Amino acid sequence: MTQYFECRCGEHSESRTCVRCYSRLRGMLESLPEQYAWLHLSRQRPQSGGGDRRSSRALHAPTPGDERVLNLLGPHARQSVTDGLDQTGPVPFLGVLEAWCEVVVEERRLTAVRRDVSSMTTLLTQHLRWIAEQVWVGDFEEEIRGLLRTTRRITLTEPRRELLTGVTCPSCDGLTLVRYYPGDWAAQCVLCPSVRLNERDYQQLVQQAYQAVSAPGEV
Ligand SMILES: [Zn+2]
Ligand SMILES: [Zn+2]
Repeated sequence: MTQYFECRCGEHSESRTCVRCYSRLRGMLESLPEQYAWLHLSRQRPQSGGGDRRSSRALHAPTPGDERVLNLLGPHARQSVTDGLDQTGPVPFLGVLEAWCEVVVEERRLTAVRRDVSSMTTLLTQHLRWIAEQVWVGDFEEEIRGLLRTTRRITLTEPRRELLTGVTCPSCDGLTLVRYYPGDWAAQCVLCPSVRLNERDYQQLVQQAYQAVSAPGEV
């Protein structure tokens, strides 16, 4: 007998995480390395020009820029830096990933990975199917989403959504295709989670729509 779960979004599914939430989670993980790079770029250099990132002096140097960045980039023991500045006091970027990687490595008896952002997100992505079935997947999702939200607020890369006009969704036929900036896909349907088109497929769709208009009946 098939067991049904209710996903966090309310959708009933054979797995603890429905298809739509799974792909969203995957997308979030995949955008982390880029966000981390942006975060580094958002960091103001101390005026002294000294490049010693390990020096706590540098971390405490006047930063006309953003203490939130330093907090996110800093070692996670340094939690007091933004006390009172940010009511949520986000855990530093790598700290969130490290904690979850530890859980996966321990429970799945894997060899630990290097503690850089790309190794860690790769590990989490590789084991996402398994993660998606764990009772704690909701906590996992919440933390990854929170991390992404905090980071995007700082890097000013909150996704923008553009409605793509003139082309209909190949699945539901609705004028529901959108593109996200930044985003991994040239077009996505807001209604059909499975419709995610790359640039080539999207251009093909545009071509077809164009042909349908210029030579009706011949498509
Ligand atoms: Zn769901
Ligand atoms: Zn659709």
